[in-house]
Amino acid sequence: MNKAQAKNRIEKLRKYIDKTRYRYHVLNDPSVTDADYDSLMEELVKLENSFPEFADPNSPSQKVGGKPLDKFVRVAHASPMISLGDAFDEAEMREWYEKVLRLAATDVKKSGFYCEIKMDGLAVSVVYEKGLLKYGATRGDGQTGEDVTENLKTIRSIPLQLRDESKYYNFALKNRIEIRGEVYLPLKSFEALNIDRKKNNEALFANPRNAAAGSIRQLDPKIASSRNLDFMAYGLTGIETKTHEEEHQIIKDLGLPTNKLNLYCTDLDSIFELRKKWGKLRPKLDYQIDGIVVNINDEKLFAKLGVVGKSPRGAIAFKWPAEEVTTIIEEIAVQVGRTGTLTPVAHLKPVLVAGSTVSRATLHNADEIVKKDIRIGDTVVIRKAGDIIPEVVKSIKELRTGKEKKFKMPESCPICGGKIERRAGEVAYRCINKKCFTIRRRELEHFVSKTAFDIDGMGPKIVEQLLNEGIVKDPADLFGIEIGDLEPLERFAEKSSQNIISSINSHKDIAFERFIYALGVPLVGIETAIDIAKKFHSLDNLLKAKSEETSAIYGVGEKVAKAVVDYFNDSANKKLIEKLLTAGIKVIDYHSPVKANKFQGGVFVVTGSLETLTRDDAHKKIVELGGKTGSAVTSKTGFVIAGENPGSKYDKARKLGIKILTEKQFLEMIK
Ligand SMILES: [Zn+2]
Repeated sequence: MNKAQAKNRIEKLRKYIDKTRYRYHVLNDPSVTDADYDSLMEELVKLENSFPEFADPNSPSQKVGGKPLDKFVRVAHASPMISLGDAFDEAEMREWYEKVLRLAATDVKKSGFYCEIKMDGLAVSVVYEKGLLKYGATRGDGQTGEDVTENLKTIRSIPLQLRDESKYYNFALKNRIEIRGEVYLPLKSFEALNIDRKKNNEALFANPRNAAAGSIRQLDPKIASSRNLDFMAYGLTGIETKTHEEEHQIIKDLGLPTNKLNLYCTDLDSIFELRKKWGKLRPKLDYQIDGIVVNINDEKLFAKLGVVGKSPRGAIAFKWPAEEVTTIIEEIAVQVGRTGTLTPVAHLKPVLVAGSTVSRATLHNADEIVKKDIRIGDTVVIRKAGDIIPEVVKSIKELRTGKEKKFKMPESCPICGGKIERRAGEVAYRCINKKCFTIRRRELEHFVSKTAFDIDGMGPKIVEQLLNEGIVKDPADLFGIEIGDLEPLERFAEKSSQNIISSINSHKDIAFERFIYALGVPLVGIETAIDIAKKFHSLDNLLKAKSEETSAIYGVGEKVAKAVVDYFNDSANKKLIEKLLTAGIKVIDYHSPVKANKFQGGVFVVTGSLETLTRDDAHKKIVELGGKTGSAVTSKTGFVIAGENPGSKYDKARKLGIKILTEKQFLEMIK
């Protein structure tokens, strides 16, 4: 094949593949089999490789996933990606209907409603310029999202260029066209994905929505590409239309899929009919849906109706009623929130409801438990609607065995042991210790920090949320977190609960000295932790140690020794350590590092802020290599490591003629 022939063939193949894609994904009318499609694509890729001069970033062959990214760039949406108000039953729906009628009765009746299937996926925006896919972003907080273009490109139903046979193609060449829709994972792909993950011992996704969200937020497009994500559009900007229905027709004409079930309805009764019809169809669909979006069809009227709160008045999400299931309450724990409020939470035998595995449900407050007569061990009805935190509806008293236990609010704070009170006129009990929450938050932040358990992705906000929701009460609880615990939390799908759980589970083995440090024993930094680890070698030895032994550790002062002894004699701390070990933590006995003699006896003082190391890290390295750390510069100081803004210690070191190292020189030394 010569150049001209190749060029011709490449162009023909590209056009034909694009057309095939359009017929398959948009018209639902495949013209070739999957195998034929793959073989055409294979030929195209081969030709493009042999004739790189004809490469084109918009060729359908480019939909396989480019290079992995370092991080996602944030992009501001041209107009906010709004969320809709909800209606859960016919009464709530009627309320909305009557409200819009009151505002514009004649116009509403003339307009009618365009009803769309509400896909249970992840909202994204896809922007085309000059007819070509320019970028795509997640909804994020509605104002700004993350640029996930490379991942969206791998989705077959999202074309790299708009359909050139479209009536609107010429217009699109000169204008910015934005299409919004939901990325979702078809049920078949979801099941296959989880089977695969089970085989590989990876945590399972709780539901297709989480799996879709997790996939679209992968930095490596090859992963997104392997997940078989799909896309369904629901909105268009950049082309003026008279009705919402017309928007959908144009989207289809431009080559992106919209749901073929979507339907125009004239009035409320026909909307109710449609919901019943779709309700029956729902279990047969190859994707999860969570309701109907009812839109005022007339675009001008829609705009005129304006916005209430953060949602447009002219549209509403008419959701399916909440799902209810029964399960057993294994325990009722009390969580202490950020404001000190004590909330009882039911720990349940895990159960699947509304597409998610649920293992906790709120009981609101002590009065509620008494009123509903809910006991530990009861069989209860759990209700969950959409992505709302599940609640306990009632207990089934007929199923009691007599062994059920009544719940009692603790007399002191279950966290800090402090006083609790109930203010007049309030149902909630509170811990009056103002620092109760802050102390725990700091403890947990310390526990997951780099020098301690080094758990990725556990920023302060997540730590706070875990404590506030009562999912974690002490560090040991971290190792029992399940996907179902995180899934109902706000914005957790996007934060990829999957990654956090993997990170937690991959950090169960920990060096003895880091374990001591992680516990947060008062006055014990990493250097002291290493000294203790050196002396006792294993956790077992330390737990059996007598106080004389601890105080005999070289370099550990009396005060510190007492703090260590007190800590390991405290029954609550002993319990925590036991709980950690039961949770699967493996504390690895102390091994003196190979290079341990390099700094033998030399005293190092770190001053100023270092660029790549934390001070704890630097101290750890020094001690590992046999050196000692000091806090003041004296004639015995061997080296001063000076970072940014080193201050008076630096001046003193110069005066005394002590060797001063930059961070870079220090890093060289410890290599
Ligand atoms: Zn407290």
